[in-house]
Amino acid sequence: MTTLIQNGTVLNADSTTRADVLIDGETILAVAANIPAANHQVIDATNLLVMPGGIDVHTHLDMPFGGTVSADDYFTGTRAAAVGGTTTVIDFALQARGHTMREALEIWRAKAAGKACIDYSLHMAVTDLGPNNQNLAELDQMVAEGIPSFKLFMAYPSVLMIDDGLMFKVMERAAALDALCLIHAENGSVIDIVVSEFLARGETAPHFHALSRSPLAEAEATHRAIAIAEMAGASVYIVHLSNADALLALHHARQKGLRALAETCPQYLVLSLEDQMPGRSWDEAKYVFTPPLREKKNQAPLWQALASGELSVVSTDHCPFRFSDQKSLGKEDFSKIPNGGPGIENRLQILWHYGVNSGILTPQQFVALASAEPARIFGMPTKGAIAPGKDADILLWDPAADYTITAATQSMATDYNMFEGWQVRGNAKHVFSRGLQVVADAKFIGNPNHGRFLKRQANAGGFA
Ligand SMILES: [Zn+2]
Repeated sequence: MTTLIQNGTVLNADSTTRADVLIDGETILAVAANIPAANHQVIDATNLLVMPGGIDVHTHLDMPFGGTVSADDYFTGTRAAAVGGTTTVIDFALQARGHTMREALEIWRAKAAGKACIDYSLHMAVTDLGPNNQNLAELDQMVAEGIPSFKLFMAYPSVLMIDDGLMFKVMERAAALDALCLIHAENGSVIDIVVSEFLARGETAPHFHALSRSPLAEAEATHRAIAIAEMAGASVYIVHLSNADALLALHHARQKGLRALAETCPQYLVLSLEDQMPGRSWDEAKYVFTPPLREKKNQAPLWQALASGELSVVSTDHCPFRFSDQKSLGKEDFSKIPNGGPGIENRLQILWHYGVNSGILTPQQFVALASAEPARIFGMPTKGAIAPGKDADILLWDPAADYTITAATQSMATDYNMFEGWQVRGNAKHVFSRGLQVVADAKFIGNPNHGRFLKRQANAGGFA
């Protein structure tokens, strides 16, 4: 089947043109002015921007954590992503200690089977290389399976944290494989002590979660990860960078010409300790995630780093838990509140409204941060642009649409929204995933058998 998207403005990271887009099956066949309607199904894109579908490189669907499981599975999670204009997600498979990466891969592929409404890929979170690092070669196997990115945790000592030696070992091998190392950069050993000190003083409310995880704990780990990556010759990507101190560590590394990249997330750009977590109520558990919300003064430097290109990507770290029966696990103790917030559906609305409408970012920079750079850095050459030969992952964006964000109408499976009641201008109108229309007039019309596992290429984060 052929579909013609007519009369729109085609927006890529490096160009803006008035053009029609012809889709043949799953692929973009042509991008040109005045393509005849012929026998094609025609979609009118008058006053719409025709851009590559969003790519969210940081999600946690159906993930066990803190005695429960994240509230969105692959169906509800990818459905919400699509409604928000995202057509590819990269989720995290978590290797359990004492088990292989292969097992983790099979577990996560099974979670996604028959449930993904859009294409998905996986990063592998490495927690264990076995006695004497005897399982190091599993990294090679993961790259061969199309998983050329490894997540390493410097936080959560009793569950996920690895020591610096293991980090170095993984980075050395990753460098040889042109794989990318993703780092959760927080000094977990120090944080755990601070947490126990708060609890011992009876400071158990959600507010203290935020206070227990200093910006310096993140900045120190950011610097350490980048330094160890430099020693190993590896490319490194800092996930969910949240504050100005950590940004400084990244800035120094990039000035030195190191292969260091980072993302931030909408929550750090528009939510703050002062506004959302002032220490008044249990409601603040809705904003318990790591790194925590920071003081407002950190927001401007993050926006500035997006505008300058120092931060490469905006992802969500979508890790949803219901307020009613999941966040409540930590009612008496903030350290037992499941860590994470919902955001997969609202990423592009927030980035457009507060980034583009406010004049901080150009529309082309928006596409770079939301789609093109994720595709390039994470080795997905068929994604991230509107051009002949690319997958027909297409977002028709209505920059004039007024939208009120609310849990009452959202597609995510949580009972709250972090941006409840916020009014934004700019929203996804129609969305195509490999040629199949999955959203029409902002309503989901896709299906859970459509999304495919996407094998990615090892390219050292675009530096190879
Ligand atoms: Zn995460």
